[in-house]
Amino acid sequence: MARVAVVTGGTRGIGEAISVGLKEKGYKVAATYAGNEKAAQEFTERTGIPAYKFDVSDFEACQSAIKQIESDLGPVEVLVNNAGITRDGVMHRMTPEQWNAVIQTNLTSCFNMCRCVIDGMRERSFGRIVNIGSINGQAGQYGQVNYAAAKSGIHGFTKALAQEGAAKGITVNAIAPGYIDTDMVRAVPPNVLEKIVAKVPVGRLGKAEEIARGVAFLVADDAGFITGSTLSINGGQHMY
Ligand code: NDP
Repeated sequence: MARVAVVTGGTRGIGEAISVGLKEKGYKVAATYAGNEKAAQEFTERTGIPAYKFDVSDFEACQSAIKQIESDLGPVEVLVNNAGITRDGVMHRMTPEQWNAVIQTNLTSCFNMCRCVIDGMRERSFGRIVNIGSINGQAGQYGQVNYAAAKSGIHGFTKALAQEGAAKGITVNAIAPGYIDTDMVRAVPPNVLEKIVAKVPVGRLGKAEEIARGVAFLVADDAGFITGSTLSINGGQHMY
């Protein structure tokens, strides 16, 4: 029987590539999104993958969405925590709203989503969780105290939950992408982006599909001995 995979923020960018990559591998995929209806609708038309709208930073919303997904598709055995936002600004100008939005959406969301699926995974003695971190959680980044803190938190979260899940057949890993060609990176001013690309040994931005490939590898049934690890996919920019 096909395993059910949930990909948060799975309708655009890296998430879209992950959703499509998993579908191609035979998973029954549910993609989630926050509010970009047009992107979600076009995604579903293009891929045939259902899209579920809810805010990953809201615990109760996650609970009812998982309930709905499980009743539509079956028990969730694979969870990819990919949804994320940036609200950049240097510390001396950052507002509490910018801080809270990024921590809630990028980090608290991992707690919310994992908490909703962990009991079922433990009961069935199988689970695959992949959390999407960032090179900027490993190395820090000017103007991203909030984002770097959230992403760095994801890496600690991953290692701790991996220890809890290990005896129950649940693996928990992180991927730390470098700069990938998506809407998020297209929002960076071109002169700044040029400088970033100049620091990537491979000499280009990454492709969303290159992250999706890592996810498919980590969630595979025969990847049961890989847990608590962080896979850096960054064109050699930061070797950690
Ligand atoms: P995009 O901005 O292209 O897409 C973000 C996705 O997350 C969208 O589907 C969006 O939904 C969803 N989302 C945002 N906020 C919420 C929320 N509160 N609740 C539910 N869904 C939400 O992002 P990317 O594809 O670029 O990034 C994906 C992940 O990879 C993020 O975690 C990001 O931090 C990380 N990353 C990205 C890098 C890059 O270079 N692009 C580098 C390193 C890490 P909607 O469409 O409705 O807005």
